[in-house]
Amino acid sequence: MLRGTFENMKSVNKTTILNKIRLSGSISRADIARETGITPPTVSSMVKELIRENLVIESHLGQSLGGRKPTLLQLKEDGYYVIGIDAGSKTIKGIISDLVGNIYSRAEVDIHPNITKEEFLTSLSAVVEQLLRGYKQYIDKILGIGVAMHGVIDIETGTSLSSVNSGLINVPIRQTLEKRFDLPVFMENNSRAMTLGEYWFRNGSVIKGFAVINIGRGVGSGLILDNKLIHGAQGLNGEIGHASISLDGEQCKCGNIGCYETFVTGDAIVRRAKRNISDASENLTAEEVYRLAKQGKKEYIQVLEVTGKFIGIGIVNFIHTVNPNKIVLSGGVMKSKEFLLPSIQQTISERVLIGKLREETIIEVSKLGDDITVLGAAALLLNELFY
Ligand SMILES: [Zn+2]
Repeated sequence: MLRGTFENMKSVNKTTILNKIRLSGSISRADIARETGITPPTVSSMVKELIRENLVIESHLGQSLGGRKPTLLQLKEDGYYVIGIDAGSKTIKGIISDLVGNIYSRAEVDIHPNITKEEFLTSLSAVVEQLLRGYKQYIDKILGIGVAMHGVIDIETGTSLSSVNSGLINVPIRQTLEKRFDLPVFMENNSRAMTLGEYWFRNGSVIKGFAVINIGRGVGSGLILDNKLIHGAQGLNGEIGHASISLDGEQCKCGNIGCYETFVTGDAIVRRAKRNISDASENLTAEEVYRLAKQGKKEYIQVLEVTGKFIGIGIVNFIHTVNPNKIVLSGGVMKSKEFLLPSIQQTISERVLIGKLREETIIEVSKLGDDITVLGAAALLLNELFY
């Protein structure tokens, strides 16, 4: 879809109606009018536009109370497609998905550690090019490209300002991709994109406070309050990896001492294992710790249990600061969930202020797996279309 067309499709009433249909599954025109307060004639004409624009379809499956069955409206799931890109520090992955997160196509390129800005942008374009190869005839049905990247992002200009892991600064991602593909491009930090992905494709009905905490090579979080992704004054909301949880301890890559990250990342697990287990291998990895724990090796199980306790402490701090309804945990470290979750839950139980927090704050591990970031990137477009 050409840039500009996208914005023309939107209006406040139309967006409200489209969202009502999406969240209801199926709904009649009369109920939309009743539940949104928009007048029936306006609902009628907006629905006509939405059908013409291929976003909504009519179905006749409604329950009739005698007489004619009411016509219900539903989202046309594959009326449009979106491109989602996960620009990681080792690979760039991309997908084409529809409006409800079904994935139709995938592409991936590896990137090397000392990549230059130009090489990075070329690789990024190559992934989009690969994805589009089989979809050129549907270009009008592609809403645009969403890019999720670690580090600090200027979402207004679509620039990656700084990414510690790949060492790149000021990478003009939106400018480059829009020029090359003439599609709208939206960008977001990876933790926030993951949060949107979980929210759009799994948790749309949790409307008050929803958070994702991602624990992998680093730790980041994303927060949605009243349907809005929170950025903070300087766009740094969610940097909980750098919350200080100890006055002493190890130095974090940010320069501070005692950051949450230094206790819970994959590297932290390896350091803990090497400290506590005398015959731990010099080349131990976090995956190996998990494998040995699964074999029943007690010392390795203990390392993961202690890690779970520290993860739990960060979650307790998060609950007390934000008070969300639901927290989804994601990231490579959570692949060891069977050993981590019991001590995470126990720590939360022991430390939260009141029983209601313990009983009513839902803690889950993401079921989107490794696709959480690409789907989150795709959801950036949906967030623009539906809000
Ligand atoms: Zn730090």
